[in-house]
Amino acid sequence: MAYQQSLVSILKASSLSLPVLQLYDSYRRGTFDFLPITDNQVSMYACGPTVYDYAHIGNLRTYLFTDLLRRVLMANEYSIKHVMNITDVGHLTSDADQGEDKMLKGARKQGKTAWQIAQYFEQAFMEDLNRLGIITPKIVCRATEHIEEQIDYIKALQENGFTYTTSDGVYFDSQKLERYGYLARLNIEGLQGGKRVELAQKKHHTDFALWKFSVVDTQQGDRQMQWESPWGIGFPGWHIECSAMSEKYLGTRFDIHVGGEDHIAVHHSNEIAQCEGRHGHQQANFWMHGYFLQSSGEKLSKSGRSILLKDLIDKGYSPRAFRYLVLTSHYRSHLQFSFAALDSASIALKRLDKLMHEWPLQGKVSGELLQQFLKHVNNDLKTPQALALLWSVTKGGLSDADKRATLLAFDQVLGLGLASDESAMPFKVSSIVPEEVEVLAQKRQLARINKDWGLSDRLRECIKEAGYSIEDIKEEGAEQRYKITLLSV
Ligand code: AMP
Ligand code: ZN
Repeated sequence: MAYQQSLVSILKASSLSLPVLQLYDSYRRGTFDFLPITDNQVSMYACGPTVYDYAHIGNLRTYLFTDLLRRVLMANEYSIKHVMNITDVGHLTSDADQGEDKMLKGARKQGKTAWQIAQYFEQAFMEDLNRLGIITPKIVCRATEHIEEQIDYIKALQENGFTYTTSDGVYFDSQKLERYGYLARLNIEGLQGGKRVELAQKKHHTDFALWKFSVVDTQQGDRQMQWESPWGIGFPGWHIECSAMSEKYLGTRFDIHVGGEDHIAVHHSNEIAQCEGRHGHQQANFWMHGYFLQSSGEKLSKSGRSILLKDLIDKGYSPRAFRYLVLTSHYRSHLQFSFAALDSASIALKRLDKLMHEWPLQGKVSGELLQQFLKHVNNDLKTPQALALLWSVTKGGLSDADKRATLLAFDQVLGLGLASDESAMPFKVSSIVPEEVEVLAQKRQLARINKDWGLSDRLRECIKEAGYSIEDIKEEGAEQRYKITLLSV
């Protein structure tokens, strides 16, 4: 990697201070100043993929959010101990501890063993991270390689009186905790009253499996993933792996725990319960959650609507364009995926690439603009504002060389690979006109009908800024009175 000057040293050289870093904590439901437990070191645990299928671009949005967080922490001169698990056993098709292990189901679908598909999809996932410029976590740990730690954890919970055993497994007794479900502010009483969930032998439906006993798989014979334990042959429940591995690598209290928003109600609530059961406190100072990527209002999911990074690449898009699209919205809002939106992101990125390759080298980073940029990203990762600032720099009064240097400094956080070799590679920009450009064109049409030439000119400029030109068609009876063309980049 090319030498990168530290952003803090650039601020210092201009006698400017680093804006305070504030992050949203889902546990306290508010934004707070971030200070790590150990000076200059951040310990961070991220829930990783369940490797029974390819990650879809929704999953990847969550890992891009984690990467952004990591880069912001790095910009604040913290060294990061980033741990991510690989779920290769124990994640059942139903959050209520029923159904099949997703790994076994995936194996059956592919006609392979669970071990083979785990290895294959883990590798495919790591390739996706690489394509998106996501920095690999320092420690990537597999559930199947930490069975002993998980058994030890369950034993400790048992000694503390938080478990009970049924004919199909060992369960966590959620009613033993006064604040079970606090993270999600679960209304346990309400849930109990309106119970609609299959309890099987559980005492309460918010109880969850710590260890499941093996049953003979009717189609495949003996279960492929099973281990001896003090309670019988079986496999660990999904939640225990994250408690056991985060504790092993980061200790009983660490700085940040991340995952997608769907983890709030079940997986993270259960991780918290396990830590409280074992140690009497929860484990992370900040719980951070990335919101879903949706398509036509529906969440993307592996079993339902699924779009892969590979699908985008096959259509000619660059993974960098997907990263740009993700940065256009704040991580705590839902992002609607559409190919029109990806087209706009591609155009914007291509325009940036062109500028970066045209502008001369050897410029100086503007300390003031860098400070403004860091104010945005240190304010709970406000990337839409950071991107708006980036575009205002391209149009502002700095010399072209200084613009280039300043944008490269921003890119240490954005990770778009500006001016990289990759940015010189061709990729697809739009073949269709994005909806927002069409709306601008229609507004301009109306302005012309109203003879508001000033507004019409301003709208033409907006259309140009979005990467399109508009031409009026004068022919009598023409169905459309304008033609929109993509500007060459
Ligand atoms: P999984 O591989 O299913 O365990 O999910 C991996 C990560 O992706 C988890 O942190 C999920 O919360 C997250 N995730 C799942 N679906 C989406 C989505 N549509 N948008 C964003 N993140 C998601
Ligand atoms: Zn987890």
